[in-house]
Amino acid sequence: MTISEAEAEQHGVIAAGECGPTSTPQDIDIDALREKYRVEREKRMRTEGSKQYIETGGEFAGFSEVDPHTPVVEREPIDTDIDVAVIGGGFAGLLCGAALRKAGVEDVHIIEQGGDFGGVWYWNRYPGIQCDNESYCYVPLLEELDFIPSKKFADGAEIYQHCRNIGKHFGLYDGVIFSTQVRDLKWDDQISRWRISTNRGDDIRARFVVLGSGSFNRPKLPGIPGITDFGGHIFHSSRWDYDYTGGDASGGLDKLADKTVALIGTGATGVQLVPFLGRDAEHLYVFQRTPSTVDERNNTPTDPNWAKALQPGWQKKRQRNFHSWTFEGMALGQPDYVCDFWTELGRNTAARVLALPDPASLTPEQFVGIREEEDYKVMERLRRRVDSLVDDADTAEALKPYYRFLCKRPCSNDDYLSTFNRPNVTLVDVSESKGVERITDTGIVANGVEYEVDCIIFASGFEITTEISRRYAIDTIEGRDGLSLYDHWRDGYKTLHGMSSHGFPNQFFTGFTQVGISANISANYEVQGEHIAYVIAEALNRGAATVEPTRDAQDAWCATIKENYIDNSAFDAECTPGYYNNEGGGGGEGIRSHLGEPYGPGFYAFADLLAAWRDKGDLAGLTLGHEGDPGA
Ligand code: NDP
Repeated sequence: MTISEAEAEQHGVIAAGECGPTSTPQDIDIDALREKYRVEREKRMRTEGSKQYIETGGEFAGFSEVDPHTPVVEREPIDTDIDVAVIGGGFAGLLCGAALRKAGVEDVHIIEQGGDFGGVWYWNRYPGIQCDNESYCYVPLLEELDFIPSKKFADGAEIYQHCRNIGKHFGLYDGVIFSTQVRDLKWDDQISRWRISTNRGDDIRARFVVLGSGSFNRPKLPGIPGITDFGGHIFHSSRWDYDYTGGDASGGLDKLADKTVALIGTGATGVQLVPFLGRDAEHLYVFQRTPSTVDERNNTPTDPNWAKALQPGWQKKRQRNFHSWTFEGMALGQPDYVCDFWTELGRNTAARVLALPDPASLTPEQFVGIREEEDYKVMERLRRRVDSLVDDADTAEALKPYYRFLCKRPCSNDDYLSTFNRPNVTLVDVSESKGVERITDTGIVANGVEYEVDCIIFASGFEITTEISRRYAIDTIEGRDGLSLYDHWRDGYKTLHGMSSHGFPNQFFTGFTQVGISANISANYEVQGEHIAYVIAEALNRGAATVEPTRDAQDAWCATIKENYIDNSAFDAECTPGYYNNEGGGGGEGIRSHLGEPYGPGFYAFADLLAAWRDKGDLAGLTLGHEGDPGA
């Protein structure tokens, strides 16, 4: 579907023709840059691949299993039978819970490690936290909750509050189990239920289980020797310690005035943090392995007249438009509603295509070629932006990103680059040594120099493309006959529609598991939640004790995924290492996209396929078992 310009104007989103291509440098040598990108990539490749990162369990549990926001209240272990347990209370769990309630399923219990709903927006409250892609697309259920974010990139606190409002709106606080971590999930054939054990000694027997822990649920640490030797203060950005720093998410970190602080990590989190730490710390050392792209922010407040003019259905249309301009490469004939650094490459590509004598005869290869050229130009624009804002030439050079756009998550921030002009801020480039060398009792060793610091903050990211046993953070997931999900999926996902797997009755998955992927993460969870809720509601309405995909249906879906697979591995292989490409495939693990094994025809084709499947009403590919059936 394309959205016409007239429709766009009717939705009050953007005046037609308002957003066009940007001006980028044309005087570049693409071959020389391609070689420079290769050299910069090789410099950072590590033989350990994703195993360079330490899990935050065991002796490192203090980095993740503490809750700085809510005291954990003692309670008796829970011993109960329920219909549905949803594991995770972030966007994935909330949107699934909301869909279950809308489908008429009442006995829904979300189990969440944090002390409230919100997921990443509960945990991440570091100074400067805002959403990095447009809130009007990103924040879910805006129309249903009659809410509009106060600015283009909303503050974390506002999104956290919206998550809580979703919980209230759909009655999900009833029966919620907070401050609880699921340890084991075992299918019990005798009672046709999942037995859930937790860190609070609970024995919860759930007929259905939905895994909704999201992609950013588990902090990871760089595997730097000596972390446990450090005698000063140390924490991960997702467990911010305001008792130590003072201030709050809006800044004012007054207790850092006499502190030397080290920040390790310059991804999306590090970029948001640096201006605040630079302003308030006595001295800030930023240890950078790979620079992010940092564009201007243009974080405009929401125009109330614009918001008032929005017509029903606007958010889904806007999400679809954003998806087209980013994930689909460009959207000829459509205005670009979002019109920012995420969609720039699409716009510039579209302008080139439209300037061709016969755009309709464009081949896929020509499209890829044009987009690649525009990519080099956009990246050059971003590198020259660094020169225009950073005074010291060596520091500016170190801050320049040499890789293709979308090899890493693009960032925007109006204060990040200029913070490096402050006399109390030092950039330490650790690319040559592929990261910080060592941590000692008193500081950090990099490039053979020891930097004495009072505090180390890890903005080192999350388990996103690592093994699922690391990502799910559940010790055991065992289906029928003790089959471990981790073993079952060791060589790749095996699912029907990405949401259920043979041998794992009544269990449902969310995330990037053989599904169509939207550029809007919340849209993914809405579509998945709606589908899972439909299947669970149907199973309950039909009096079934179990619902499970047949092996044939699962095999057919795996074949569909394979046949339609769009192989981006050549692009990923040329990218600088990071979680987007499974750390460049080092450690023998191979390149693995952070988007999993997506359904090639795309997110909207996937949503249509699911809707058509539901419309038929025959639950094709699923087996329903009833009490008394063998194995049900
Ligand atoms: P990332 O995984 O993006 O960044 C981790 C950082 O740690 C990288 O800069 C990495 O360097 C660095 N690092 C890792 N190991 C070492 C080492 N040994 N020595 C030095 N540096 C090291 O994590 P983030 O928390 O920044 O972001 C994760 C994701 O979370 C984002 O991509 C985004 O999707 C989401 N997010 C969203 C936000 C929003 O919408 N507002 C805000 C923050 C995060 P290198 O790049 O070289 O690997």
